[in-house]
Amino acid sequence: MNRRHLLIASAGGLALRSHALNFANRPAPFPIRAEVDRIVDIAVGIRPFRAAGPRLALERHGSKALVHHYGHGGSGWSLSWGSAQAAMGLVAASGVRPGERIAVVGCGAIGLTTARTAQQAGLKVRLYAQARPPQVHSSAATGLWTPDSRIVTTEHATQRWAAGWEAMARASFRVHQSYLGLPSAPVSWHDGYVVADQDFDSPLPHYGQTPEPDYPDLQDRLAHLRPGSEPVPAGEHPFGTRAVRRFTQMVFNIPAYQRLLWEDFLREGGEWVPRTFRDGKELTTVAERTVVNCTGDAARTLYADVHMTPVRGQTARLIPQPEVDYAVIYRGQNCVALPRRDGLLVAATGAHDFGSADLRPDRAQAEAAVQRLAQLF
Ligand SMILES: Cc1cc2nc3c(=O)[nH]c(=O)nc-3n(C[C@H](O)[C@H](O)[C@H](O)COP(=O)(O)OP(=O)(O)OC[C@H]3O[C@@H](n4cnc5c(N)ncnc54)[C@H](O)[C@@H]3O)c2cc1C
Repeated sequence: MNRRHLLIASAGGLALRSHALNFANRPAPFPIRAEVDRIVDIAVGIRPFRAAGPRLALERHGSKALVHHYGHGGSGWSLSWGSAQAAMGLVAASGVRPGERIAVVGCGAIGLTTARTAQQAGLKVRLYAQARPPQVHSSAATGLWTPDSRIVTTEHATQRWAAGWEAMARASFRVHQSYLGLPSAPVSWHDGYVVADQDFDSPLPHYGQTPEPDYPDLQDRLAHLRPGSEPVPAGEHPFGTRAVRRFTQMVFNIPAYQRLLWEDFLREGGEWVPRTFRDGKELTTVAERTVVNCTGDAARTLYADVHMTPVRGQTARLIPQPEVDYAVIYRGQNCVALPRRDGLLVAATGAHDFGSADLRPDRAQAEAAVQRLAQLF
């Protein structure tokens, strides 16, 4: 079973807050206005996929310690906090003293959460980065809790690796919950529907995409962290005769989350230095003794990491519809819609995303996804 299949099969359904009048007497849900002229933005980013899983390693370079912390594939936001805690173990092993200032290079999802975790551990942090949000790949993310998305290949997913991943995911999950209920809603939970034209057992069409490696099924390890999905009988959902399952899903409102992390970082005395490092060695030329490398896909070239493959991703935002509070996964149609604060996010896979670092927006791809979504309404 490949990753796309798993995602769709396991995501559960976004529950339109109710839909038919005969559904527990709840009001009918508001339809998504899936119209191409409501697209206000198309964002493209690169997932830093690493076949062997994220690289967490401590290297010594003379008097300097370099902690590698990159390669989180399609799971960077989801795993961020747990991964940052693991990185902090390596920072501690580097011999850093309480209150010492460390360097964190990169301020995407991984750099920001690493910096905040270090501050919470009593360290001072100086962030060096070529770009900061929203000009980082992390800003283009969909914003779903997907800790197992393109995170490792089956070949590398040993029992030991999976246990480490599970610990990371659980730790991350706990921290994400502490961001619930805040005014800017950096983290929220939504119901959703996964909708299939036929049934959930029929094979998914291939769409001529570039083949991807085999990914392990890690879902069962985290099964109890959210409610399971459940079938929704015909007549109790707005999708006609289609097969529908309802699920409940954690959502990251990426712009609000990034902004909050950034502001918290500065408020706690964090420093920010715009800087582009030309090669991997240059990272250890900064003033700090301990440096954490959170450069995401850029580490592929900075460190000639042969395990890494760029995976392009694109999201389109439609004009916000605050009245829509459910997500939709249209199974087999390569289309996901998410009710984010900054707009209705529509994500779709492109034909040649795997292995591509092409950052050019593809308007036709975005419009096609919106049109497929429109078929549901
Ligand atoms: C379309 C899309 C959808 C996604 N959806 C989800 C999702 O729903 N859920 C989820 O959990 N994850 C998702 N992801 C994955 C997630 O976004 C990534 O795993 C995450 O962005 C990785 O973060 P990062 O901090 O490692 O990298 P980046 O965000 O790329 O940050 C790298 C940082 O390093 C800096 N840098 C790079 N090179 C240099 C250099 N030479 N010198 C100085 N600084 C440098 C950059 O400027 C930047 O600040 C998605 C990704 C994409 C593209």
